Amino acid sequence: MNSFDCEKSFLVDFNLETGFSEKAETTKRRLSQMSEMYCDSEAVKKLLETGDPIVYAFHEMGFPERKGDLAFGTTILYPGTVGDEYYMTKGHFHNQLDTAEVYYTLSGEGYMVMENPEGDTIEMPLKKGEAVYVPKRYAHRTVNTGKRPLVLFFTFAADAGHDYGAIETKGFRKIIVERDGKPVIIDNPKWK
Ligand code: MN
Repeated sequence: MNSFDCEKSFLVDFNLETGFSEKAETTKRRLSQMSEMYCDSEAVKKLLETGDPIVYAFHEMGFPERKGDLAFGTTILYPGTVGDEYYMTKGHFHNQLDTAEVYYTLSGEGYMVMENPEGDTIEMPLKKGEAVYVPKRYAHRTVNTGKRPLVLFFTFAADAGHDYGAIETKGFRKIIVERDGKPVIIDNPKWK
């Protein structure tokens, strides 16, 4: 694990097309690790018969989860669909629900899908050169609706923590599917 002294200033370079940084740790998420999250189970099964595609990867600093510091890094979400549902990240709440996050789109296009525990939902378009503010209390997931990799820079409170469990169990209320070649936001038929 790389470790940075967050008491001091430092520089990290990221490739704007690939999100890669030599100074960051890379984590890859394959379809098999999120097979239950897509609606079309048959499409998942079929894809996994011929391989196990990398859906996304993220590059982040090995920061201590400490109050007052900011964690940051990049996510690269590949283009593709499972059935008619676009490739997406698992999505999560923060353990510390009262912590927000900023995502800045470096390349590609898609959506940030958000919802809070009360069931309010937000879908914000992600466009190169624009930043989206994910408010505190909102679970968040990115969806790639384009033909190229979607690359995002993110930063959040280093001690926020990640809660993937709630989303793994319930899913998001809204999903994004391709209809006639265009993204459409629909109710998630698998939502519990
Ligand atoms: Mn987050």
